[in-house]
Amino acid sequence: MTGDPEVYDVAVIGAGVVGSAIARDLSGHAVSVALLDARDDVGDGTSKANTAILHTGFDAKPGTVESRLVRRGYELLSEYAKATGIPVERTGALLVAWTLEELDALPGLRDKAEANGYRHCEPVTAEEVYRQVPALGPGALGGLTVPDESVICSWTTALALATDALARGARLLLGHRVNSVESSDGTTTLHTSRGPVTARWVVNAAGLGADVLDALFGHRRFTVTPRRGELLVYDKFARPLADRIVLPVPSSLGKGVLICPTIYGNVMLGPTAEDLTDRTDTGTSESGLDFLLAKGARLMPRLLEEEITASYAGLRAAIDHDDYLIEPDPDRRYLLVGGIRSTGLTASLAIAEYVRSVLAGSGLALEPRADLPEPPRMPNLGEAFVRPYQDAELIARDSAYGRVICFCERVTEGEIRDALRSPLPPASLNGLARRTRVTNGRCQGFYCEAETGALLAAASASREGNA
Ligand SMILES: Cc1cc2nc3c(=O)[nH]c(=O)nc-3n(C[C@H](O)[C@H](O)[C@H](O)COP(=O)(O)OP(=O)(O)OC[C@H]3O[C@@H](n4cnc5c(N)ncnc54)[C@H](O)[C@@H]3O)c2cc1C
Repeated sequence: MTGDPEVYDVAVIGAGVVGSAIARDLSGHAVSVALLDARDDVGDGTSKANTAILHTGFDAKPGTVESRLVRRGYELLSEYAKATGIPVERTGALLVAWTLEELDALPGLRDKAEANGYRHCEPVTAEEVYRQVPALGPGALGGLTVPDESVICSWTTALALATDALARGARLLLGHRVNSVESSDGTTTLHTSRGPVTARWVVNAAGLGADVLDALFGHRRFTVTPRRGELLVYDKFARPLADRIVLPVPSSLGKGVLICPTIYGNVMLGPTAEDLTDRTDTGTSESGLDFLLAKGARLMPRLLEEEITASYAGLRAAIDHDDYLIEPDPDRRYLLVGGIRSTGLTASLAIAEYVRSVLAGSGLALEPRADLPEPPRMPNLGEAFVRPYQDAELIARDSAYGRVICFCERVTEGEIRDALRSPLPPASLNGLARRTRVTNGRCQGFYCEAETGALLAAASASREGNA
């Protein structure tokens, strides 16, 4: 598509979970849509490195756009996950008070949840807290249950949305970094690292880069501060210690450090919250690790006896504004979707729905299509659901699903083959890991990376040969 003279009706910049959801939604209408990203894969920015909780929105600030869209997003994504096979586990969460001040805050948190439309929080005694999570450290004074908090696969979510957008006819332009913009005759030309892309409307869903792009459109309304969140992933043996999400009482500094089961069967401790200046610094730090270990020692000492499989960090696109910033500029046919900090995974489908209504209200004709394909059926990466290596019938039909390549995560040759042949194949080992879990286990690829890398290289060579 480089230098393609075609004018798209809408160009969406940023193929994270938010941009992918927007492209999917818009391409359900009679408009042509391009989804651009600087990177070589979808969901490769903040969307790949988060805590992966499907939030009920119980603790959002009532009355904000964020609170409304998180609540709606929870419903929409729960339904979409059922339709596409994105794994979700409704583990529930337990908010634990460790001080008298925190204990006093619990009734207010329940009221806040109700103001956000969530009516299922229940205060519980210290005894009940320990009955629900026996491995908690000593000193818990009471808690509040949030039975509908869930864990989800954030990787599959972004991939499902982008795959769906592709099936609906959107064009995915990866490796297209937007460097400058030029408007004339009712269109905007995005000058990218792979040539120009022209569209009638532009949606800026560029996450950490949204303020820079916003400035290219002549606005000076906000600044993004990358707020790093570091996380430790504990071995699957730790999972019985934490069968639900254990939350701290939120403070003015944020949601705090939590203990969270992962959809892949591990347990996570984190995240930290540290403002940086470098928007690319997704490395972990010694101080972050020490901080998390100190928190973990208090929250759940037994967790620290388990082995750490991995550590990682994600960057929240924090902004100097208390809410999502979704604002159109109808004169320039441009829409900013900024400040989607800590809840964008949950809210993605609701943000897309809202963006659709804002664009329609700003003059974009959006006629729903009657000929939409079925949503894609995604491979299951969830540990709580049947995986190919466990499926005797599947293996009988196709023995590639019986040949395990990654023994830590029990990923089969069939799954790797399917990912490499999918409509949205990975460009790197990390991309393949997000589609299959390969190399993500205890050995971090020590035993399977050579074979996996060879399969990836062969698939890339074959694609290039066919191009
Ligand atoms: C530690 C942590 C924990 C979190 N936990 C949760 C959670 O439990 N639940 C939840 O719902 N949310 C959570 N979040 C928030 C969630 O991850 C984000 O809100 C969401 O991923 C934002 O998605 P996005 O598409 O806006 O951004 P991104 O995924 O960052 O996508 C933006 C894309 O824009 C591209 N881009 C930027 N500039 C340009 C340019 N000039 N040209 C072309 N492309 C460009 C980037 O390459 C990137 O791919 C968490 C975040 C962090 C960091």
